[in-house]
Amino acid sequence: MAAREPAAVSVAIPAPLWRRFDYLPPPGEPAPPAGSRVLVPFGRRKLIGLVWGKADADLEHSRLKSMEQVLDVGLIDDHLHAVVEWARTYYQFPPGEAVNLLLPGALRRAQPFRAPSPTGLALTETGHKADFSRAPARDQVRSLLQSGPTPRQALVDQGVRPGLLATMMKLQFIEAVDPPEHRPVQQGPALNEEQRTALAAVLRARHGFVALLLAGVTGSGKTEVYLQAARRLLSRQRQILILIPEIGLTAQLVRRIEARLGRRAWTYHSGLSEGERLACWHAAREGRAEVIVGTRSAVFMPLRRPGLIVIDEEHDASFKQQEGARYQGRDIAVLRARMLDVPVLLGSATPSLESLNNVDQGRYQLLKLTQRAGGARQPRWQVLDQRGQSEALDARAITAIERHLKAGGQVLVYRNRRGYAPVLMCDSCGWQADCHRCDAHMTWHQHPSRLQCHHCGASRPQPRRCPECGSPRLSALGAGTEQLEETLARRFDGFPVFRADRDVMTGRHDFDELLDRVRSGGPCILVGTQMLAKGHHLPGVTLAVVLDVDQALFSGDFRAPERLGQAVYQVAGRAGRGDLQGEFLLQTRNPEHPLLSELLRADYLQFADRLLKERHQTRLPPAGPLALLRAESHRPGDAETFLREAALAIRAPGIEAIGPIPAIMSRRAGYWRFQCWLQADGRARLVNRLADVVPTLANLPSARRARWHLDMDPIEL
Ligand SMILES: [Zn+2]
Ligand SMILES: [Zn+2]
Repeated sequence: MAAREPAAVSVAIPAPLWRRFDYLPPPGEPAPPAGSRVLVPFGRRKLIGLVWGKADADLEHSRLKSMEQVLDVGLIDDHLHAVVEWARTYYQFPPGEAVNLLLPGALRRAQPFRAPSPTGLALTETGHKADFSRAPARDQVRSLLQSGPTPRQALVDQGVRPGLLATMMKLQFIEAVDPPEHRPVQQGPALNEEQRTALAAVLRARHGFVALLLAGVTGSGKTEVYLQAARRLLSRQRQILILIPEIGLTAQLVRRIEARLGRRAWTYHSGLSEGERLACWHAAREGRAEVIVGTRSAVFMPLRRPGLIVIDEEHDASFKQQEGARYQGRDIAVLRARMLDVPVLLGSATPSLESLNNVDQGRYQLLKLTQRAGGARQPRWQVLDQRGQSEALDARAITAIERHLKAGGQVLVYRNRRGYAPVLMCDSCGWQADCHRCDAHMTWHQHPSRLQCHHCGASRPQPRRCPECGSPRLSALGAGTEQLEETLARRFDGFPVFRADRDVMTGRHDFDELLDRVRSGGPCILVGTQMLAKGHHLPGVTLAVVLDVDQALFSGDFRAPERLGQAVYQVAGRAGRGDLQGEFLLQTRNPEHPLLSELLRADYLQFADRLLKERHQTRLPPAGPLALLRAESHRPGDAETFLREAALAIRAPGIEAIGPIPAIMSRRAGYWRFQCWLQADGRARLVNRLADVVPTLANLPSARRARWHLDMDPIEL
């Protein structure tokens, strides 16, 4: 009788292929369970993979290869395995992407796993005694460490150079230790009636799943509600996962969370080193990390004893991954909470229509915070009609800025366009500088002086003369943040003008530092792009000005009005806190546009409600499901051919496939871009159909001549 063959297993391998691969366990070993991290031969290479399940029963074992090594048995628990399996079916990405979602970078390489080294620092005996009288930087580090072991990151966040820490470590003035998990708790402000009601709703649910949408106007104290809920759950030995948008704001928030919860807040985001991310992942998995603050990818964080998931600024676009596995982190967070049977709290001053629709459908519970903390009033609004005006800043806006600065207030100017000018144009023949690879104008930057394409990154010198007619008379059309900064600095000599956009905020802590300076400083002007519309605490701002909303009013993207409303309410919300009456100005060439009147007349929830009704009339998300099948190719015909064949394969009773149609930006970085809109009567019907068909599309001959992907619940067209 033949010996029983060892059971083969299927393994997810990080390769862009629409299948898993089957392997036998290493000779003489039992088959590892699902979720195990394994090293397998793949072609000539050895790759890290995750055991996903049993292999196909019909396989001939004699033809299968054996794994090299089982590295970690059952590293990923059944819950996370199930979450990612759901996501894979719903979003339709290749099975190997699971490895990227579930394992931090350090565990994706074919190297043995080493326990992460401690991330805290403490003074050594030598460090305590050393004479630093002529080394002020070292002396500063010593005073920061005087109170005891401190996370290395906290020192860096306070401006200590990493190189200095390395030197002091080498000289044995400091040593690596585990930072303390517990620290003194600071009392927070008393909650108002609405906050207490919201907190009670979370606490009522603490033993089971509930999704709560906390819609709180700017300054209404949403964070206080999160923190107090988190405190109660921490006292029951539960872990708290807080997801935040992908912006450089972690340092400020982390300091606040640690002070109020009396716990170390572990962080997980792309600004950290691989070792730091691994340390956080590891501590969360073991249950040592009690509070974890992270960006989108932290939604797949392993948790040993979960108690609460918070999604701050839940409307933010950064929760949707735009490449590889195109998942919506917010939706995964809610799914996880449901499977773990814990409450999930979604917070925003301007909730997404998706979440508001979930409230209407009875899936989420709405909690409103309508009062600003400290009794501050809502800002006064005014629309400035720009028709027939060519100046970037209206004379009335200039007067208002002057008035607020002289009264000691701070001013925020929002313009969602970086660079000096969005268009460089010839006054003689009308030529405009366009990108050769995209369907877009080049943006003119002055420092350094270049033309830049914001879509593909192409860049070329600014021409001295018009390339068409040779005229030297080239001029800027419109104004970007770079030009506004210059204009404002000239006009308001004596008041500091700060700019916040991606051109100047390049370092990891630049934006945090700028906000700290503004918060601790006197009258000033802060000019910037949508970075400024993200819920920052800026108590000194009394005037907010929004420039040029007109493009968004006529966009081909059905989500443009929602995004415009969110940005406008977020910026307006900055104006006036505490006892300062705020003022808000909006410049437009379309003062009678119904959308603007709606924005001005209603509060955000009423405005959003009207947009939601429109989506229901048009069956657009979230009223109906939508997926985009996108394709791009160097030759325009190739992408279209693939999409035509794909649409034919997808169409079925109750399933619509519209297209191929050109993308809104039909050419980008030299590629011609097309898409098909996929819709259906019901979400499950669409998901099931796509799960059947999408994995087979890679077999179409035309698939080889185009780059393509599916985007379920897309947020960009
Ligand atoms: Zn010309
Ligand atoms: Zn371009």
